[in-house]
Amino acid sequence: MANERVDQSDSGENPEESQDTGLQEAWEEADRGDENIIHEGIQPLFGLLETAINHFATDVHIDPVGDQYLVRFRINGVINTHEKMPSEEAKRLLIQIRVRANIDITRSFTSREGQCKWLAEDQVKDIRVTTVPRNSDTSIHLRILSPPENLTNIEMLGLRDKDLEIVRRSLAHPQGLIIVGGPTGAGKTTTIYSLANTYDLESIVGVSIEDPIEFNIPYLRQVEVDSRHDFHMPDGLRALLRMDPDLLLVPEIRDERSALTTVRAAVSANFVLSTIHSKDAASAVEAFAFLSVPYNILGGSLRVIIAQNLVRTLCPACRVSRRPSGEDRALFERWEIPVPDAIFDANPGGCNRCDRYGFSGRTGIFEVVDVDQDIGNAIVEGSAQAELRRLFRQKGYGSIFKSGLDKVVEGTTSMPELLDLYWPEIGGAGID
Ligand SMILES: [Zn+2]
Repeated sequence: MANERVDQSDSGENPEESQDTGLQEAWEEADRGDENIIHEGIQPLFGLLETAINHFATDVHIDPVGDQYLVRFRINGVINTHEKMPSEEAKRLLIQIRVRANIDITRSFTSREGQCKWLAEDQVKDIRVTTVPRNSDTSIHLRILSPPENLTNIEMLGLRDKDLEIVRRSLAHPQGLIIVGGPTGAGKTTTIYSLANTYDLESIVGVSIEDPIEFNIPYLRQVEVDSRHDFHMPDGLRALLRMDPDLLLVPEIRDERSALTTVRAAVSANFVLSTIHSKDAASAVEAFAFLSVPYNILGGSLRVIIAQNLVRTLCPACRVSRRPSGEDRALFERWEIPVPDAIFDANPGGCNRCDRYGFSGRTGIFEVVDVDQDIGNAIVEGSAQAELRRLFRQKGYGSIFKSGLDKVVEGTTSMPELLDLYWPEIGGAGID
């Protein structure tokens, strides 16, 4: 994440292994003539996806506009126009997509979903396809699914040294609950997989329950929720806990029963990693209370709360240096950070190295709270969000926004990028 452009082959043994297994499987499927595989012969679809993947896009949107089709990529979380495609070429593309993703062309009056694989010599990507009818035309969304980046290296997440130290300490005594909070798309899942991956998963019993499984992690027993067959998360969790796992991963808690089962598992000596939708560490505690988890059980099991968001990282080759403005200075001063002589903005025109975007990759900004006796007690007592937040600051744990300001000082990101996510004048969760 700190550098999404890290080559897969640099990111450790396990992902490489899973990549290889997946690749081999995909080639066997292709040799059997499986229709779901998009290989080099399928043009223009293969070529379009190849360009998107080379640009590290996560999504491709294809929409009819007049007599053309607009093709846009989402790169580093931002939509960029790739090209306007002549309608004839686009129609050929749409048919290829529908065949590969097994979407019934004759029933194009409702939104449809399918899945296929893009296969090159040395890599394979799962592609999730959604089609939406638009008058007589069709809009298509392709999601390029990638395993979380930098799985083996928690140092690459963007944690500050003292945060990393807290996380490492808790991983050395694997017991209790580590929660990762943040909004949608804040990199929470990548963080818990990276934490899980610090263990030798081959030598312990690690289980996870997911909805859906987006990528396979070697040696982790991953179970998928299947609501159509009445296999829901609380049932799955109970089944998994009967295996007496050393490590339980719950990538997303959505309902009350799962929340309580997950937290209880942590009380009974399992090591549990989970994420929850929240704005910061204090509101993550409240998110559990909303899901009817009693404060005493939560306070007794929580070890570390990590809250996070993602900012784009400036392209180091073309970022532009400037003196901090009066407003910038005021922000640094309010968060008690020495005002730097210079900070950096993105170059609007970019350069060759960043494909003219001015940014390359994204990195996490974090609030990491080590839950000690005092904080545990405050949670058990049901302290209000604002009170908890005050206690965290007293103990020296800075807000996500403050961690963002640190990244501005380092020149990793820009002030406008940070202010795009947070409005310091409003204050509250994530900021104060
Ligand atoms: Zn650049």
